[in-house]
Amino acid sequence: MRIDVLTIFPDWFQGPLTTSLLGKAHAAGTLDLRVHDLRSFTTDRHRTVDDAPYGGGAGMVMRPDVWVNAAESVWNDLPPEATAGGTDAPAGATHVAGGARPRTLLLTPRGRPLTQAYARDLAGEPRLVLCCGRYEGIDERVHDLVATDEVSIGDYVLFGGEVAAAVVIEAVTRLVPGVMGNAASPEDESFSSGLLEYPHYTRPPVLRGHGVPPVLTSGDHGAVERWRHEQALALTRERRPDLLEDGRAEPAGDPGGRPPAG
Ligand code: SAH
Repeated sequence: MRIDVLTIFPDWFQGPLTTSLLGKAHAAGTLDLRVHDLRSFTTDRHRTVDDAPYGGGAGMVMRPDVWVNAAESVWNDLPPEATAGGTDAPAGATHVAGGARPRTLLLTPRGRPLTQAYARDLAGEPRLVLCCGRYEGIDERVHDLVATDEVSIGDYVLFGGEVAAAVVIEAVTRLVPGVMGNAASPEDESFSSGLLEYPHYTRPPVLRGHGVPPVLTSGDHGAVERWRHEQALALTRERRPDLLEDGRAEPAGDPGGRPPAG
């Protein structure tokens, strides 16, 4: 999978790119992560990406011409110089050579909430472009001309879209077969079945007087599966009853629970 990130803080992504599973996938070439400095798509001497809002008010707004130049360049794999000056282009949609623009995600608190289902949908794309906002926000025309999706990672406000982009990248890439090597087990994970995941245990068998549920060391695989399913249901009821009400989960009325298939 290829992911292009547009940001005024490209250095921010050095950490994720060089450490952890994400860094490994990038080094191995299964994930082609390209981070672009939004300022390379400016046309003025000061490399300005923001301006005062029309109509007044606090804060600065990101300029749409810079974003359109950047998006066209990345979509078409062109160098920054090739698209600079986009303000003089004819009115209409921005240009993509040879077909539809790749899925282009604008990170914004007003976007569609990121969920496991949404991440799975995005994981099916060959290419993603992630646009990180800063300041008060981005000129509305970027929402219209550049974004195919607006994505929020939660109901709170961050300084910028970089953290949100990293969250999207992690949630999506771990679902792409081959990217992370050992693909996450889709049936068991939190949210996949509509339930939170059951508790995990490993050695030692006793820690500061706290033991391990005996069923896990019983060797009875059926009993282990039943226990895990009961635990997942109980945790979900206690902490996220909204997930059960969504109707995505298995029936809640059967605490004995049949074990998940497989
Ligand atoms: N004034 C804006 C917030 C701007 S925060 C508002 O009230 O909606 C600056 C940038 O941070 C945004 O452009 C966006 O890219 C990013 N951002 C902040 N919170 C976010 C969230 N919850 N999800 C995704 N992106 C977010």
